[in-house]
Amino acid sequence: MSSGGAQLSMMRQVLAERAEARLSDAALRLLVEQAAEVLLLVDVTGRVLVFNAEAGRQFRIAAPSRVEQGELPGCVWVRAEDGATPLDVSPLTRALAGEPVFEERWGLRRPDGTVVVLRGGVFPVSPEGGLAPEGVFLRAREEVPARLDATRAATLLAEAGALLGAELDAEARLEPLLRLMVPTLADAGVFFLGPAGEAVRAAAAVHAEPARHVAMVEMLHRYPPDAADARGLPSMALSGRTERVACLTQAQQEDVARDEEHARLLLLLGLTSYLGVPLVARGRVLGALALFRTEGAPGFGEDDEQLAEELARRVALSLDNARLLSEAREAVRLRDEFLGIASHELKTPLTPLHLKVQLLQKQVEVLAAHGKPVSAERVSETLEVVQRQVRKLTSLVDNLLDVSRITAGRLKLELEEMDLASVAAEILYRFAPAAAQHHCSLEMHAPVPVLGRWDRLRLEQVVTNLLSNALKYGAGQPVRLTVEAEGRTARLIVEDGGIGISAQDLPRIFERFERAVSDRHYGGLGLGLYITRQIVEAFGGSVTATSEVGRGSTFVLELPRGDIPEEWLSVTEPLA
Ligand code: ADP
Repeated sequence: MSSGGAQLSMMRQVLAERAEARLSDAALRLLVEQAAEVLLLVDVTGRVLVFNAEAGRQFRIAAPSRVEQGELPGCVWVRAEDGATPLDVSPLTRALAGEPVFEERWGLRRPDGTVVVLRGGVFPVSPEGGLAPEGVFLRAREEVPARLDATRAATLLAEAGALLGAELDAEARLEPLLRLMVPTLADAGVFFLGPAGEAVRAAAAVHAEPARHVAMVEMLHRYPPDAADARGLPSMALSGRTERVACLTQAQQEDVARDEEHARLLLLLGLTSYLGVPLVARGRVLGALALFRTEGAPGFGEDDEQLAEELARRVALSLDNARLLSEAREAVRLRDEFLGIASHELKTPLTPLHLKVQLLQKQVEVLAAHGKPVSAERVSETLEVVQRQVRKLTSLVDNLLDVSRITAGRLKLELEEMDLASVAAEILYRFAPAAAQHHCSLEMHAPVPVLGRWDRLRLEQVVTNLLSNALKYGAGQPVRLTVEAEGRTARLIVEDGGIGISAQDLPRIFERFERAVSDRHYGGLGLGLYITRQIVEAFGGSVTATSEVGRGSTFVLELPRGDIPEEWLSVTEPLA
């Protein structure tokens, strides 16, 4: 190689080495700057060479150019124990005099008067290996005091109690509650609502650091809790047990993340310790409280666990009370609405009854005044109306009595052998006039007897309820009744082609007082199907409905045939 060529290659090497040195310098500077510890390098003349971000945060001053007599501008080294007495000699001065200062605690009064306790060391630095140091290097971190003494815990519980007693929507209290716990008990917290295995949602979240709070809210928004993917959920707490991880590692957090972005957001939060406690009230898990601590804070201990559990118990009770209150209010609302409907329904038959009787009375008076007898035809016509309306009233009152019987658990069944097909046929026959009135045709399909042991009156009541609904809501379309058997199960199906029931209303029509139609268009107490279901369930059977709005409804009754002889199962001829 020519000497020119050798020079060129040397120059390239030197340049490469310089670039490398610059890179590693820059990396070192970055490392120092971003370290979670206070890092400070001072030369023997007092010139400050390194003063990282954490130093600025702890000393609460901008990077100073000099240290005078071991003191930073505006700051005073004080005793860690009382925070008022200045130290005789600053740790920096001691190190500058050549004495290494190993792991000690000092207090530092900052320019704003607050005192922070630092734990760390100061080391003389001699790059040339000489005895006299050329500078000193201080590294320290804030010593976070044990978070909760008994007084603070009691205060926290008292404040939480006051908040839980406030006239607020129960869920609206969750965030203020977290704000009480953060940062006294934890650096971040999330309330998850919904028990394990069901839809879980994050109802409130708070992080002590504003930037991290934003990241946490974003993370919960972008990665909402997913019961199907338990990662990232306080699963153990949601299934009713407390979980405490004193030291939460980065790997553990990466493990629960659903993808890289999730992991990135999670790691941004700086979580280092985790405590998950269940929200349990009256033996039911309502959700979980997840608490976290971040870098520099001690891991959660047993005391923290006890306090968090106590808080969670109170929160759960208040959530449950709120639920009960709203259910009770809803029940009262429904009852009031029902009373309105019931009075209206009871009054409806009374009006024609009253008018007919009044009319007859007038006629009797007029005829009597003229000395004429009342025609038997007229009396009988009035009595027919009276009887019809009295029947209606009786049935309404019977329904009300049934409900109170069911509520009190006094529904008694008197079982006897019978043929469901005959019972159904008889009722269908009774419905002929009503069907004509509703312009509905009635069809029956019951090819063979279906024998079983049931309570006749209650069975009749059930079939009557289903048939009268089919006519009432049947919009003049044919109504079809089918009776069949499948082994030890008897089945009765009532189909109509009427107004139908929306999918949204379908689940509630069997509940007490529930109606899916307006009372302006259709009378009724909303009790028929409730009573039907109660009776059917008392028989050990079930009643279900399928429907399509505008196309009609199908009600299927399935009843166990009870304790009947084997040979009855295949009877194909009507009973004698
Ligand atoms: P109601 O006295 O209101 O008829 P029910 O308990 O018998 O009370 O029925 C509850 C509600 O279910 C009714 O208000 C109606 O909205 C709906 N429903 C019941 N049967 C039918 C049907 N065959 N077709 C359409 N809707 C029905």
